[in-house]
Formats: sequence, structure tokens, C-alpha cells
Amino acid sequence: MFINSQANAFCLPGGKVGVTNSLFKFTANDAELATVIGHEIGHAIARHGGERMTQGMVQQAGAQAIAYSTKEAVYVTAFGLLSNVGAILPYSRVHEYEADYIGLMLMAKAGYYPRAAISFWKKFGKGDNDWQIRELLSTHPMSKKRLEEMEALQQKAREYYDQAPQKHGFGEQL
Ligand SMILES: [Zn+2]
Repeated sequence: MFINSQANAFCLPGGKVGVTNSLFKFTANDAELATVIGHEIGHAIARHGGERMTQGMVQQAGAQAIAYSTKEAVYVTAFGLLSNVGAILPYSRVHEYEADYIGLMLMAKAGYYPRAAISFWKKFGKGDNDWQIRELLSTHPMSKKRLEEMEALQQKAREYYDQAPQKHGFGEQL
């Protein structure tokens, strides 16, 4: 978790997925958090990084160089990583659909109720005027079509959920 006033989630080179503390204001429960993390893992698995990652790695190296020269290394590194994310181009619509698909199936397999994806993105997509989520929306463009696609995938995701060895439902309220 990174400390930042922007609610954001991202994947980093090497397959690490991060969320900022402010994102928790927008996630009602574990299943909604699993939605965001699953979506980011989806981008990583489908290797949507490419040029975006290369650009990110250069900036990350720069941020780390700054970090080592200060005592607040961890904080500065985190800040540097987050400022990359803002500079990186948005994912394409096709990449968003793919990440939504993978994310939904992953969260369901992990035993989180897949309907939480709908409630989370619906809530998030409405927040265009909220400065705290502008960053996440700018890198992950939201649309009515995305919600319709996620709705259409519910049955398939539900089958994975039914087979999950451990079921958490919506998990804990956050
Ligand atoms: Zn995305």
C-alpha cells in the first residue's frame, strides 16, 4: 500500500500490484478490493505493460536514485512510483476488457463474489468529478459498455465462484 491522496491501483515491473491508501475510501468490502487487484493482475498477466512498463522502469530508476540519497527512502520511492503512474498513457479499451475478464475470473476463483465488480466500477465510474479518483479513471477509462461486458460475464464468473474451495462472499466490510 502506498500513501497518496489519489485513489489508485497499478501494476509494476516484476508483477507487483499496488494500491494507494485512498482507494480504501471507495471499496466497501474485500470483494471490491479483490476487483481492483484482480483487474491489475489481469493487465500484468496479459502483458499489457510493453512500452508503458519500459517508460515506468526508467522513471522508477530515477525515483530510487533520489530515494537512496534521503533518509525517507521508502516514502520517496513510493512517491516516485506513483508519479510515474500519472505520466503513463491510458490502457486501450481492448486492454480494459481483457483485464476486466481476467480480474473477474480470478476474484471468483479466489472465492470473492463476482457481483462486487459491478458495484465497484459502477460507483467508481460515476465519480468523474471527484479529484481523488481522476488518476485511476484516466489510466483505466470507464464506460457503460465495460459494465455491460462485466454483467454478461457474471454467469461464467459465478461458475468459478461456485467451485472455489474457500468462499468469502463479499468478505469483510472495509
Ligand atoms: Zn485497467
